[in-house]
Amino acid sequence: VGVLGSGDFARSLAIRLVCSGFKVVIGSRNPKRKAGLFPSAAEVTFQAEAVKKTDVIFVAVFREHYSTLCDLADVLAGKILVDVSNNTEVNHHKESNAEYLASLFPACTVVKGFNVISAWTLQSGARDGNKQVLICSNNQEAKRIVAEIAQVMGFTPVDMGCMSSACEIENIPLRLLPAWKIPIFLALGLFLCFFTYNLVRQVIHPYIREQKNKFYKIPIEVVNTTLPCVAYVMLSLVYLPGVLAASSQLYYGTKYRRFPDWLDQWLQHRKQIGLLSFFCAALHAVYSLCLPMRRSHRYLLIETAVKQAVEKKMNIWVEEEVWRMEIYISVGIIALGLLSLLAITSLPSIANSLNWREFSFVQSTLGFIALVISTLHTLTYGWSRAFDENQYKFYLPPTYTLTLLVPCTVILAKVVFSLPCVHQRLLRIRRGWEKGRYVKFVLPSATGEYSSGETSSNV
Ligand code: NAP
Repeated sequence: VGVLGSGDFARSLAIRLVCSGFKVVIGSRNPKRKAGLFPSAAEVTFQAEAVKKTDVIFVAVFREHYSTLCDLADVLAGKILVDVSNNTEVNHHKESNAEYLASLFPACTVVKGFNVISAWTLQSGARDGNKQVLICSNNQEAKRIVAEIAQVMGFTPVDMGCMSSACEIENIPLRLLPAWKIPIFLALGLFLCFFTYNLVRQVIHPYIREQKNKFYKIPIEVVNTTLPCVAYVMLSLVYLPGVLAASSQLYYGTKYRRFPDWLDQWLQHRKQIGLLSFFCAALHAVYSLCLPMRRSHRYLLIETAVKQAVEKKMNIWVEEEVWRMEIYISVGIIALGLLSLLAITSLPSIANSLNWREFSFVQSTLGFIALVISTLHTLTYGWSRAFDENQYKFYLPPTYTLTLLVPCTVILAKVVFSLPCVHQRLLRIRRGWEKGRYVKFVLPSATGEYSSGETSSNV
């Protein structure tokens, strides 16, 4: 196997190829200077020499320098060139780098591949990193040969079809978390709304009504009351699209009607929404643990103790408050534990080790239990505050009452869907039954002859 270029990628590729048992020849403009950088089993020589000695040649050179290889056109004729290049921007050029290389060397067969693998992954071995190598070419035989090389190197070749896919393959390493954009904006939007709401209730209201300076609450207390709201609502948003999808199937009596695009998108982003919910819940746990460490907390504690001493109050134990707090912290910890389990099982390596039933049990059943337990956590935290007039700052209800809206709707809907009559109908729909679909029937008549007709499958 030949490699043109002696940079980072060429070096890592050569090491991996040598380790996989290939005879490797490196083509460099300055072989003497570069030879020391390569494993001794690889031969480092001039570009033309390397091309002559090999049939499959990796072009580990930037697109900008492809034209400098034109002198090699004659020796390259009939060889397979593997274009490993990437761009700096999505859709940077009109034609993909691989198509450009093919246009410069029409007598060669160009295969696009290996660009989604970094030099680091190549060196550290296929076990430590992305294992997929996306490959495309207009020549099936050349594609098969390169796929075989990838397989021997320990990677998983993925056939992406003909050369027109090269542009898409070149854009893959440049995409920044495409599946996360919507969930991140959703989380940020919710955070901003709840943060503003809590700020008004916890800081602005005491400042305006009682001229009390509570601005110190912003960095920790307001953030810590906002995070669980976001985590809880986001968790319910993981299960809400499922409820909407089931409702739509029940309403139309079929599973073959396409969901609207927004619902499709939402269903596809549930994993990311769930992971962000877990992230906010984990931050909430850390913030909560740090609450007693704050100086403001110590001052307030001492202030309350002194006040009680002055008032000669000896017994400050409120049994109901003690129980409420014990329970809400305990269920909070359980909810966080379940969310951690959901997050871990959504990792591809773990998810791949589960069968469908196990995966759906964890993600669907345990996830729903996590939502119910989080609801208990919220209810025991809020307790009777929803019925306390003093809690309505600027007529705004306590934040926890707002967060309960979507999760309770989801829980209620799930309970309705689990009723045998509804559940059975949903099951039938999901196995292909359709409302109003006519089926042919054939019945024997009294005379023994068969008469045929149509009836609705509802009947
Ligand atoms: P690099 O370290 O800059 O190496 C480029 C090599 O190209 C040089 O070492 C040079 O080797 C050779 N070259 C040939 N003609 C040249 C010319 N006219 N001017 C300058 N250099 C010339 O770059 P790299 O990181 O190895 O990347 C090489 C290719 O692999 C790029 O297309 C890149 O997009 C792709 N790639 C890289 C990575 C990565 O992780 N680095 C990952 C995926 C894809 P000689 O001096 O010996 O001729």
